[in-house]
Amino acid sequence: MGATSYYLETYGCALNTADSDMIAGHLSDRGVKRVLSPDEAHVIILNTCGVKEPTEDRIIHRLEELSKMARLVIVAGCLPIISLRRVQRAIPNYAAILGPQSIETLGLIVDRVMKGERGLLHLEPDTGSKLQFFKGPPGSVVCTVPLCEGCLGSCTYCAVKFARGNVKSYSIKSLHDVVCRCVHQGYREIRLTGQDTGVYGHETGETLVELLQVLEAIKGAHMFRLGMFNPHHILASIDEFLQVMSSPRFFKFFHIPLQSGSNSILGDMERRYSVEDWQSAVRSIQRKIPLATIATDIIVGFPGETDEDFNKTLEVISNLKPPIVNISKYGDRPGTVASRAKNKVNTSVKKDRSRQLSALVTEVITEQNATWLGWTGPVLVVGAASKGGTLCRNTSYKAVIIQKQLTPGSTVDVEITMTHRTHLAATVIP
Ligand code: SF4
Repeated sequence: MGATSYYLETYGCALNTADSDMIAGHLSDRGVKRVLSPDEAHVIILNTCGVKEPTEDRIIHRLEELSKMARLVIVAGCLPIISLRRVQRAIPNYAAILGPQSIETLGLIVDRVMKGERGLLHLEPDTGSKLQFFKGPPGSVVCTVPLCEGCLGSCTYCAVKFARGNVKSYSIKSLHDVVCRCVHQGYREIRLTGQDTGVYGHETGETLVELLQVLEAIKGAHMFRLGMFNPHHILASIDEFLQVMSSPRFFKFFHIPLQSGSNSILGDMERRYSVEDWQSAVRSIQRKIPLATIATDIIVGFPGETDEDFNKTLEVISNLKPPIVNISKYGDRPGTVASRAKNKVNTSVKKDRSRQLSALVTEVITEQNATWLGWTGPVLVVGAASKGGTLCRNTSYKAVIIQKQLTPGSTVDVEITMTHRTHLAATVIP
């Protein structure tokens, strides 16, 4: 039998994407071969997510499918910590189940599974740093580097905390080395991610601003996209933060979850910031970097949310006009405080609020994208677009589609000729 081969399926957030790159890095160091089809693989590894019920249901369905096919399956990621019993019921003949902090152990587990062991369960976190295994994805100019894992929150609706725990930050030195490697290997869009990049270094004494200043100084043709941060961890250093984010090295993209426009709901969620804090952060960004793209997250139908609370959310969104709003309908997660709440919002009301908010967001983004018509400037060529053409990004991280084949990683000057809700269309300036 040739080298052991595996197929890797990744679900969930950017941090899970980075975890999968570290799984791949570790297994390739151990001579385990990655294949691109499950049919060719000895072992199938699912790097799972447990943030929302629909995602969990999709993964459980996939596990049931693989169980029926009697495939050798290793389940990794957050779901084993959040819904272990359900995972075990979906695939009783599992080869192994691990948590999201067991990448080093995963290598040993693959060996044991190939030697015939089954039903291995390992949820304890490894002691070593998984960043040592980081290798960017093959065949792409985009890579995702984790700055830290875990957070400082205890949001009442969130099960991710159970899986990822308190914040663990990688040192500025180790991140500098990883990013230098990525730049050297030709990655042009480097995503810097974490559950909450705003808490970077809280437990080590290093700060996010210090880290960004060090990374900003690395020479090359790359750009950084900073991942999600909660407002209350950035406000104290907002001026220094915006000073370094104003560098051409950073995409002008800011992902700041709001979750609700009502302070009483934010209190029930234990989000630890106010609507005013969020507005203050967003306004500071819009003042300092007028062409910045603001992305946010909203949960509609959180237990106890009244029409009045929801109207406050609509008001904040129509006032501050973030063009990207990720809308979630509240859903219970196992073991969370909110899942035990008595005053749940009924499903049809949740659906209606999600529809209303989505309609408002469509208005906001269509109006805003229209202001880009005629814009000229450089864009980074990322790769093939999902619906044809080539996907590029301008410095505001706007999706720019060009109906021409272009070399990923190159930079071209374009003119925006048409605007849509989801993207801008452009032609290359000869
Ligand atoms: S900050 Fe809150 S929502 Fe985010 S991972 Fe932590 S507990 Fe979950």
